[in-house]
Amino acid sequence: MASSSSPQRLFHLLSLILLLFAFCSISESSQFCDAGIGYGESCGVSSSSSTKLLIKGGTVVNAHEMEVADVYVEDGIIVAVRPNIKVGDDVTVLDATGKFVMPGGIDPHTHLDMEFMGSGTIDDFFSGQAAALAGGTTMHIDFVIPVNGSLLSGLEAYEKKSKKSCMDYGFHMAITKWDEVVSKEMEIMVNEKGINSFKFFMAYKGSFMINDELLLQAFKKCKSLGALAMVHAENGDAVYEGQRRMIELGITGPEGHALSSPQWLNFRKRLEGEATARAIKLAGFVNTPLYVVHVMSIDAMEEISKARKSGLKVIGEPVVSGLVLNDSWLWDPDFITAAKYVMSPPIRAAGHGKALQAALSMGTLQLVGTDHCTFNSTQKALGIDDFQKIPNGVNGIEERMHLVWDTMVESGQISVTDYVRVTSTECARIFNIYPRKGAIRAGSDADIIILNPNSSFEISAKSHHSRSDTNVYEGWRGKEATAPSLGGPWWL
Ligand SMILES: [Zn+2]
Ligand SMILES: [Zn+2]
Repeated sequence: MASSSSPQRLFHLLSLILLLFAFCSISESSQFCDAGIGYGESCGVSSSSSTKLLIKGGTVVNAHEMEVADVYVEDGIIVAVRPNIKVGDDVTVLDATGKFVMPGGIDPHTHLDMEFMGSGTIDDFFSGQAAALAGGTTMHIDFVIPVNGSLLSGLEAYEKKSKKSCMDYGFHMAITKWDEVVSKEMEIMVNEKGINSFKFFMAYKGSFMINDELLLQAFKKCKSLGALAMVHAENGDAVYEGQRRMIELGITGPEGHALSSPQWLNFRKRLEGEATARAIKLAGFVNTPLYVVHVMSIDAMEEISKARKSGLKVIGEPVVSGLVLNDSWLWDPDFITAAKYVMSPPIRAAGHGKALQAALSMGTLQLVGTDHCTFNSTQKALGIDDFQKIPNGVNGIEERMHLVWDTMVESGQISVTDYVRVTSTECARIFNIYPRKGAIRAGSDADIIILNPNSSFEISAKSHHSRSDTNVYEGWRGKEATAPSLGGPWWL
């Protein structure tokens, strides 16, 4: 990439070797990416909105600096960022005085329209993305789930599912079994399909889990392809055993999901730490970078911290639920209330979230995802007699930007520039879409949000845009965040 001199070529090359399969990556004919592929109407994104836009007088925030400036946008691309830009009458002018003008959020971890645990997530690429936009997230990266182990069939299925899209998105590929065919298909994904991040499961015994021997081979394959290995790190064998013992003890409610050990200790966090350490060692042995998804416990975070201090390339992704919630909800006597908090790895006891927040503020953890994987209360009720059958997953794609602001910026733990880094820029960098995404600067996509720090509203299932009838962040506070150049105003 560095050898290419012309920006035009660079753009083409960048498109080709994107770590992700960003749908609009090949459309350099500009327009709004969404409008360009014609999905606007179904999602309510209007392609007839002005193609020339001036956002005036806001505080423009990037990952490392902020300044009061105007942002001029043409056809979905940022043309200029500087104070006092003069424009003609044909330009729509938006006053952003007193507000923050930021790169839209990028959620690195979502599951839209996914079949899982005998059910399907309630949000598809339409409702999930509408929710994302309403909450200030303008791009997400979803996990393609193979069909009967086939990556190609999986991608085909997800290309169909994502036809409802109204904003940019990318794909990681989940690997749910390991053999020579899968190994060959990984080459096709990287070389022909632009997918270059692969997630391996050390949990979900009997379905997605692969053992250490196979994980080692998979890491070697990632290294040879220059792809990024991601792991869901839990000791799947021990979690399985612990869950079985809970049932034997007669603990069938959602609290059993958190306990999963006969000693009435919150043992599962250690199983996350153990698996994280093991994945780090295996990746280190192969000498390939590792991305640990949904870091939920102090134990796992400390393993990442140690590894990074020793010079290993390990990226840690906390998710919003792990940062701000605690497991007390799993003991709620109302099953529906408790069940909505069931996800894996489990939300931990109070204290873990605070430690993860501190790790995020110090850079031990680098970016925030959601693991948005939403089931409504009817679906969650599949596990009314056995917590093992509760579909795992919580919402967050719409709330992430609000909650990171609320818990991290308002509390003074991170600066506004850090906020942009952990919600957008770092993700764009890791997955090779920076500076097209994750920055407010000339030439970048106009995935811009305007955040009003003086506004406030209450998050509720009654007003959110997800199709779920519940929200794990019920009652939390958010800020108005609009995405004007994506056909807005999108706001709550
Ligand atoms: Zn996972
Ligand atoms: Zn996930």
